[in-house]
Amino acid sequence: MKILLLGSGGREHALAWKLRQSPLCTALWIAPGNAGTAELGTNIALDPNDFPAVADLVQREGIDMVLVGPEEPLVRGIYDYFQVHFPNLPVIGPSQVGAQLEGSKAFAKEFMLEMGIPTAAYREFTAATLQAGLDYILTQTPPIVLKADGLAAGKGVVILDDLAAAQAELRDMLSGKFGAASAKVVIEQFLSGIEFSVFALTDGKDYLILPEAKDYKRVGEADSGPNTGGMGAVSPVPFVDEALMKKVEETIIKPTIAGIAKRGIVYKGFVFFGLIKVGGEPFVIEYNCRLGDPETEVVMPRLQNDLVELLQATHEGILSQQQIVMDPRSAATIILVSGGYPGDYEKGKVISGLTAVKDSMVFHAGTKNSSDGIVTNGGRVIALTSFGDNFDEALVFSNRNAEVVKFEGKYYRRDIGFDLH
Ligand code: AMP
Repeated sequence: MKILLLGSGGREHALAWKLRQSPLCTALWIAPGNAGTAELGTNIALDPNDFPAVADLVQREGIDMVLVGPEEPLVRGIYDYFQVHFPNLPVIGPSQVGAQLEGSKAFAKEFMLEMGIPTAAYREFTAATLQAGLDYILTQTPPIVLKADGLAAGKGVVILDDLAAAQAELRDMLSGKFGAASAKVVIEQFLSGIEFSVFALTDGKDYLILPEAKDYKRVGEADSGPNTGGMGAVSPVPFVDEALMKKVEETIIKPTIAGIAKRGIVYKGFVFFGLIKVGGEPFVIEYNCRLGDPETEVVMPRLQNDLVELLQATHEGILSQQQIVMDPRSAATIILVSGGYPGDYEKGKVISGLTAVKDSMVFHAGTKNSSDGIVTNGGRVIALTSFGDNFDEALVFSNRNAEVVKFEGKYYRRDIGFDLH
């Protein structure tokens, strides 16, 4: 099978690494990819949101399957585009309607309400109902959670402790702070608890649950400072025991997949459940319509199945014939980032020490090949994933290698998993 993987992050390097282990994968293209994926297949410099360019590549190379890493092409309807132009080609990901679970917070909330899935209470407002929104905020007890309805590059959620500040934020959002993405705003109840992520693969009727994970979003230690794409992750998550997982499956995963089927939504891909445990009960914070990054860098190493076989079964609608096999060990990843990230940072710093890494897997994120060798090309640069009998043991190796890999301005969190003891 000739496979095309769309995306360029650590998630895509981990997916490429996993795809390559399958005897079913005879050739791999990654668009646009990074310096890590270049070692596993052919990188093609194209924008995954440019569907005609992706289609040209599919045609030219005789691609047999497309796996979509990031959310944007999915929310823009890449699945539906290929349904029209290459109706028999397996594209792994939801249809545009299915991708609305991530692409529209209002859609996701309304879906959960209809399906009886536990999530924070909410209301939605537009410019036409601004005054109602301002009044509504005054009836709430802070903190107040405001969410831009659409994709806002991970910046669309604002949590405020002050009602007046929340009113000002609502005004800003509804007058275009995040462009069209905040033409509608969801205001929801603040949930206090500990977050974790569960992933499922679905063909639209059946589902398989993948290893769960917990990621660390804040740039600073002890979860301080601004949000990033993710500074590290662990899998499994110690507090996610069998009883909690059972509740997640019964009250969240099953009704979500049943809801997708009930609405006749075409969905052949990954569902990411961003969850929070509140007093022993799981609630949905958000859905994503693809795998997470950096969670994929711990989930793929723990997955012992042939990924291509799973994706084929997803496309064919026979996922019920498959079973997930997980490595029982713990995996943990530490992300090395560029100095200044998530604010301004410089690119093009030479990365050394990559070949000296021992006892960790190296997944590239923002890297590229240059005449100077491999250089930094983004905020998140390298993921170092290791195994151990528990996450602390795994982190010993990732921490050691975080010192071995060097580039000017390198920063990483030394306290991944700090809240899990
Ligand atoms: P989202 O993009 O919806 O995942 O929101 C980003 C982050 O905001 C989440 O990972 C949570 O840490 C936080 N968050 C979102 N919604 C809530 C909520 N209702 N209560 C508490 N924290 C929230």
